[in-house]
Amino acid sequence: TEYTPDDIRKMVKDEDVRFLRLMFTDLLGTVKNVEVPISQLEQLLSGKLMFDGSSIDGFVRIEESDMYLQPDLSTWMVFPWGDEHGKVARLTCSVHTADGEQFAGDPRNNLMRVLEEMREMGFSDFNIGPEPEFFLFEMDENGRPTKKLNDQGSYFDLAPMDLAANVRRDMVLELEKMGFNVEASHHEVAPGQHEIDFEYDDAIRAADHIQTFKMVVKTVARRYGLYATFMPKPLNGVNGSGMHMNMSLFDKDGKNAFFDENGDDQLSQTAYYFLGGLLKHAKALTAVCNPTVNSYKRLVPGFEAPVYIAWSGANRSPMVRVPIARGKGTRLELRSVDPSANPYLAVAAILKAGLDGIKNQITPDDPIDRNIYSMDGEELKLDHIQKLPSTLHDALQNYATDDMMKEAMGPHIYQNFLDAKNMEWTAYSQNVSQWERNRYLDML
Ligand code: GLU
Ligand code: MG
Ligand code: MG
Repeated sequence: TEYTPDDIRKMVKDEDVRFLRLMFTDLLGTVKNVEVPISQLEQLLSGKLMFDGSSIDGFVRIEESDMYLQPDLSTWMVFPWGDEHGKVARLTCSVHTADGEQFAGDPRNNLMRVLEEMREMGFSDFNIGPEPEFFLFEMDENGRPTKKLNDQGSYFDLAPMDLAANVRRDMVLELEKMGFNVEASHHEVAPGQHEIDFEYDDAIRAADHIQTFKMVVKTVARRYGLYATFMPKPLNGVNGSGMHMNMSLFDKDGKNAFFDENGDDQLSQTAYYFLGGLLKHAKALTAVCNPTVNSYKRLVPGFEAPVYIAWSGANRSPMVRVPIARGKGTRLELRSVDPSANPYLAVAAILKAGLDGIKNQITPDDPIDRNIYSMDGEELKLDHIQKLPSTLHDALQNYATDDMMKEAMGPHIYQNFLDAKNMEWTAYSQNVSQWERNRYLDML
């Protein structure tokens, strides 16, 4: 809902809201919260609420640390859980510089910039329907996650005594109270693994939703003594957690631009070009859609996660799938994304790659309708099928050499992201792990 400042003032009174939780997201995808008492409301509404940006990862240098929070009033929401000190409402904010400009290092601002480009190309909306997966682990007495799963269930299991089913139901209820339209929630393939899907929304709102979603899931889990993690591959030998992204472009008259009744497989030329862009930039995109060292332990054969750069209408092994819905529901499903991604950056990069496909009329290769996992090396070569990057390092090298990424991230984020992630890779690669000791210590 679009609210005016007066609407906000009224709701604060009516609901007796005492605190404002101001949310924005840093480069690495972490939600930053600034909580202020309601006495700061007027300051906030006039865009004069200041915070110190130098304490936020990848934001700014010390000498330019004064930043302002500009609230997006349409994100107003009162948290359903009460607090003994009074009700708390949240507003998602955009970060502005001291001279009142949108700060280029704010991932949400950056996504808005890419969306503006999309509008200039004649489209009205980029819609995203995410499918986040997560694991529930038991917590120890210090509130730290253990490696103990809380259940032994599997896909769509409905055990009568399933604690997990209750937790999940609670999560769904809480999400609904916060205005989410939950479409499905179920146990996933691995023990302790779950998925909750919510209705698609325009890119900004979908990314906002992902951030709120993670917070709600973690909060509810904690009530049950459980720790919810969005780590892409927490366990060996079982599926990891993905965050498949369903996406579609809408044009100015509200029609799904991916649908064409007379098109090949009822997909429009636009859909094919968009897909062509996704495939062309797949390797660079991976750095942003799978931004952690651990992400690459999920992208291996045998666990329903994609490994190859290919698309298909039917089978689930490729990176992009076209679900059968047509008409308004026509969409592409990008299956490589995992929930460690910063949703604002991932969506901006995905959109930019697709728009590049449209601009440059990039035609995708033919679909692969066989199970790619069972194709041997020769067959893969004949079909020109390439693999996704197999490490963060590999992905970052592709990111650094794809000019599209620079435009998708903007210079500030582009460089800061690269530096931060290169450091992460270096720290990992220089660390001697337990696996190495197990393997080599008494053998050499
Ligand atoms: N957990 C799988 C992944 O890593 C996806 C399973 C599914 O198709 O929902 O992407
Ligand atoms: Mg799933
Ligand atoms: Mg899916």
